[in-house]
Amino acid sequence: MPSLFDTRPIDAPVAYAKVALEQGIDLAPDGLTYGVPAALNDLAIGERVTVPLGRGDKRVTGYVMEVTEQSDLPPAKLGRIKLILERDLSGISLTPDLVELAKWMASYYCCPLGMVFVTMLPAAVKHGTGSVKREMVGMAGEGSEFRVLSSELKTAESDSPTTRNSELGTRNSLPKLTKLQQSILAAALKQRDEGRAFTEIRELADLAGAKTISPVRQLIEKGVLITQTQAAVRAAPAIIDPSEETKNNGAPGLLLTPEQDAAIRHLAGQVHAGFSVSLLHGVTGSGKTEVYLCAIERLMAESSEFGVRSSELKDNNLPSAPRNRETPNSELRTRNSSSPAALILVPEIALTPQTVARFQRRFGDIAVLHSGLTPAQRHEQWRRIRRGEVNIVVGARSAIFAPLPPGSLGIIIVDEEHESSYKQDQLPRYHARDVAVKRGQLLNIPVLLGSATPSLESYLNAGGGQNEFRVPSSEFRVESHEGNGEGHELVPQLGTRNSELATPSVRPRYHLLRLPTRVPGLKLPKVEIVDLSDERRKRYEYTGKAGVHLVSLRLEAAIRSTMKDKQQTLLLLNRRGYANYISCPDHKCGWLLKCDHCDATMVFHKDAQLPTGGYMHCHHCTAKQLLPKTCPLCQKKVTIFGLGTQRVEEELERKFSGIRLARMDSDSMRTARDYAETLDQFRGGLIDVLVGTQMIAKGLDFPNVRLVGVISADTSLHMPDFRASERTFQLIAQVAGRAGRGSDPGTVVVQTFNPTDPAITLASKHDFDTFAAAELKMRAEMGLPPVTRMARIVVRDKDHVACYEYAKTLAAHLNQFNAEMKLGVRVRGPAACPIARIAEFHRLQIELIGKDAGTLQKLMTALRNARLLKSDNHVAVDVDPMALM
Ligand code: ADP
Ligand code: ZN
Ligand code: ZN
Repeated sequence: MPSLFDTRPIDAPVAYAKVALEQGIDLAPDGLTYGVPAALNDLAIGERVTVPLGRGDKRVTGYVMEVTEQSDLPPAKLGRIKLILERDLSGISLTPDLVELAKWMASYYCCPLGMVFVTMLPAAVKHGTGSVKREMVGMAGEGSEFRVLSSELKTAESDSPTTRNSELGTRNSLPKLTKLQQSILAAALKQRDEGRAFTEIRELADLAGAKTISPVRQLIEKGVLITQTQAAVRAAPAIIDPSEETKNNGAPGLLLTPEQDAAIRHLAGQVHAGFSVSLLHGVTGSGKTEVYLCAIERLMAESSEFGVRSSELKDNNLPSAPRNRETPNSELRTRNSSSPAALILVPEIALTPQTVARFQRRFGDIAVLHSGLTPAQRHEQWRRIRRGEVNIVVGARSAIFAPLPPGSLGIIIVDEEHESSYKQDQLPRYHARDVAVKRGQLLNIPVLLGSATPSLESYLNAGGGQNEFRVPSSEFRVESHEGNGEGHELVPQLGTRNSELATPSVRPRYHLLRLPTRVPGLKLPKVEIVDLSDERRKRYEYTGKAGVHLVSLRLEAAIRSTMKDKQQTLLLLNRRGYANYISCPDHKCGWLLKCDHCDATMVFHKDAQLPTGGYMHCHHCTAKQLLPKTCPLCQKKVTIFGLGTQRVEEELERKFSGIRLARMDSDSMRTARDYAETLDQFRGGLIDVLVGTQMIAKGLDFPNVRLVGVISADTSLHMPDFRASERTFQLIAQVAGRAGRGSDPGTVVVQTFNPTDPAITLASKHDFDTFAAAELKMRAEMGLPPVTRMARIVVRDKDHVACYEYAKTLAAHLNQFNAEMKLGVRVRGPAACPIARIAEFHRLQIELIGKDAGTLQKLMTALRNARLLKSDNHVAVDVDPMALM
C-alpha cells in the first residue's frame, strides 16, 4: 500500500490482480497477472475490468480472480508488468462465490475460464440493454434541523400544516414550506422510515399528490432534500400475468400431509447445518412444490425469529463484496435483508405463468430469469438480484448464475432435477443441477433436488435403492489397460482433498425424502398398456383391412367417452412433423431419403400452403428440401412412413368430426406467448384434445384432464443411448402424472410394440424404486454411469482423414497417460458417432469411463496440459454427457 514515504513512481502498482480474460482461449488457467493502479486500490474480486493484452496492448475485458499485495512472478517480469486500465464503468461485478464456481466449472467441464464467464454474465447486462439514469431524491442528512421539523410534522398530522409550519418556522428559523412542499417532505420521510432512503423524483411527487416535480426541485434548492443519480434499467414487467388464478394455488394454511411435514422439518433442520443435498422423491401431484414453498417460508421465518442476519449464518470465508458503485447507499435496498434468499431452478417449459404466479402469490416481489425475457428485462432482473432487492429468484438453467449478494443465499432448489434441459449442449457443457450442488457446497448451504422420476445419478447419491441393490465392489470391475482388474468403489467420496477436482456429489451429505402418495383427494391414474402388434391383428380381424392407424381402437374409444363427458385428453408423441421416412416402395431398390449434409433421414412436414403439400426437413442441420414425388433411382412413387405429431392430428380429425384440437410442439409454438395462450385455451375448456411432444409431458396441472394417451412408448426406447430405458420410464411416468388432477383418477393408455419391457410395465405401475434398482444393477454390471463416470470427446472435421488422424492422436495420448498414471480409465474409440456426419462435418467419438470423476479429471488435465485439447470447432469435450448422438 502507498505511504507517505513511498518512493515508487506514480504508475507503480499498489497491488497485483489475476484477471481471467473474457475469451475462448486458455492463456493461463487462473488468469493473467496485472498491476493494480493506485486509482483502483479498492478493486475487489469479481469486478469486470479492462486490461491491455499483447504487443499492441489491445484492450480486452476480464474478471478479477484474485487481488494480492505481492506477486510470485520473478522480479524481471514484475518490472514490466502492465496495469489494469479501468474498471467496468457501469459497475458490473460478479460475486466471489461465482468466481470460485467459474474456476471449478472451467476445470471440471474442461472449458476455458473466459468462456465460463461469458456464460455467467448475460449479454444484455454486458451491453447495458435498456440502461437509463434515474434521478433519486432523499432526506438531506440525519441529525439536521429538518429531523426536528419532520418529527413535528409527523406528530401533528391533524394540525393545519400552515399553522404548524409557521410555528416551526419561527421556532427553528427554518425556511417556510408550502403545503405541497410539506407533503413531499412527509412522503420522503415515510419512504425513509420504510427503508427506502432514496426515491425516484417523479415517484416522490406522485406519492405526495403533486402534479409536477417542481416542488421537489424547490426542496432540493432549499437543501431539505438531496439528489443522487442511479443507473437503472427500463424494461417492461418481466412477469406477464401475475394475477392469473389457478385452482388450488397452495394457499398458506393448507393442511400438510405427514410426509410433507416430515420433509419440511428435515429441511428446516438442514438450514443451519451447512452444506447438504436432499433429494425429494415424490410422485406426480404429491405436493412437492408445496414443500419448496414451505421450506423457504420456514427458512425466512427462522432467521428473522433468531434475529440472525443471513450473512452470519454461514462461515464460508468468502471475501467481502465488492463495493457496488451503482448503489452507494446500501439503504437503497428494499429487500428485507435480514431474511435469506432462495434460488429456485425449474425447467424452461415449466416457467409458465402458473409456476411463477405460485411463487409470487406466496412471496410477493420475486425475480425471474428465463429465455422468454427481452434483453432489457433480463438486464433489469439481473441488476435487481445483484443489488439484493429480491429474496426469491425463479429461473431456468442459467439462473444458477444469479448474482445474489454474498451471504444472502440460504437455499437452492432444483425442481424436476432429472430434466435433460438442465444440461447445456454448448461450451461450457455444464449441468445446472450439478453446478447447483457445487454452488451450495461453496456457500455452505442446503440444496434441495425434487422429482417424481429422479435421475439415477441423484438417486444413487442419495442412497436410493440401497436395500434392494447392493453390488459388492469386487463384482464391478473397470477394465484397465494394465489388465490388473482392480475392484473399485461404487461411489467414490471425493471432494475434501482437492476441491478443484471434487465431484459435485459429496455423498455423506445426501438425504432421501419421499412423498409416496398423491395429496389427499387426488389418486394416481390407472395405466393400460396397448400391445400394438395385437392391435394390428385385431383390427384386421374386425375390419378386414390393415391400414396405418396411430390411434388404437382402445385409445379411440377412450377419447370418445372422454369427449362425451366433456372432459379433456392429452396425447403425447415425442416426434414432431408428419413422418420421418420417405423411401422407395420397392425393397429391392431400397432407396431412403437422407439429408445431403448429414447421415440422417429427413422428416416430412405437411404444409398446405405449398404446392407439393409439404417439405422435407433435417432436424440436425436444419436443411430443407421439397418432397420428391418419385424414387430418383427407379421412378416409383415414394412411400411416406413413420410417426409425427402432425400425422396424429390429421388422423384425429378424420376419426372425430368436430373435434377441437390443438398441437403443441416446437413447430407450432414459436414463442412463450403461443405456449401460454394455448394452455389458457385448454384450461378454459376450448380444446378437447391437446397433441404434443414432451412439451405437454411436464408440469401441467389441469383438473379436467381425464385421459392421457402415449402414441408410442417406443420412440425413446430404441435410441442408441444407455439411458434409453431411463428416459422412457421418465416420459411415461411424467405424462401419466398429468391425469387424475381432478376428482376422477383418470386413465392413461400407453401404446407400444414392447408391452413387456420393464421401463414400460414399471412406469405403468408408478413403481420407480423397482425400476431404478434393476436399472442400477444393470449399469453396475456394464460399468456405466452413474455407477461410473463418463466423458465424451467428439472430434469433427469436414475432411474425413484429418478427422480420423486427429481422433487417433488423441486416443493414443489418452491411452498413454492413462497407463502412465495408472488411472484405470476405459478409453473407447475413436469410433463413428451414432450420427456420423452432421452439416458436412464427419464426427468421431472417444468415450472415457472411469471409476470416479477425479480419475477422469486427471486424465483430461493431462491432455489439456499437453495442449492437445484445443477448444475450437474441431473438438468438443462433454463431461457427464446426457446426449450421446
Ligand atoms: P407436485 O409438485 O408434486 O406435482 P404440487 O405441489 O403441485 O405437487 O401439488 C399438487 C396440487 O395439490 C396442487 O394444486 C397443490 O396446491 C395441492 N396440494 C399440495 N399439498 C397439499 C395438501 N397437503 N393437501 C391438499 N392439497 C395439496
Ligand atoms: Zn442435415
Ligand atoms: Zn426405388
